[in-house]
Amino acid sequence: MILKTIILTDQNNMERACDRKNDIQQAGGNCRILGLEEGIDLEKELSFQPLGAQILIIAEKDLIQNLRQLAIKAGFKQKDITLIHTGGSFNAFCSQCHHIQTFTQQKEFDCANCHQTIEASDHFSAYHQAYLAYPVFTQKNQSDETKG
Ligand SMILES: [Zn+2]
Repeated sequence: MILKTIILTDQNNMERACDRKNDIQQAGGNCRILGLEEGIDLEKELSFQPLGAQILIIAEKDLIQNLRQLAIKAGFKQKDITLIHTGGSFNAFCSQCHHIQTFTQQKEFDCANCHQTIEASDHFSAYHQAYLAYPVFTQKNQSDETKG
């Protein structure tokens, strides 16, 4: 079975979404873009999509959480939803010292409090209103790609 990916985005990020779509299709995947535009009922559109599909959301800070909620409301699982931020800054929660700081595009950065190099994950904590960020270890001798 070919895995289906649905990209949710807005007009500002359509170009980026199309690039992604091309990548996915070149890799043999099935991809559809649902763009936020006037008059579109995204919730309804999502309800027509197969529930096992992967959801990729490409948007800016505020919109990204709205789209994520919409996908969850439509029945998609948290683990099937990937968020890709564009522009703006957002919060990261350091798993080491629990310091919350804002950051922009880059995924890896130093915690301002404990100075550990951390990397923001896709896991958004509604409680902290921040992305959980985990330490990055420079020696990558653990290349365990298997996920359960
Ligand atoms: Zn820290």
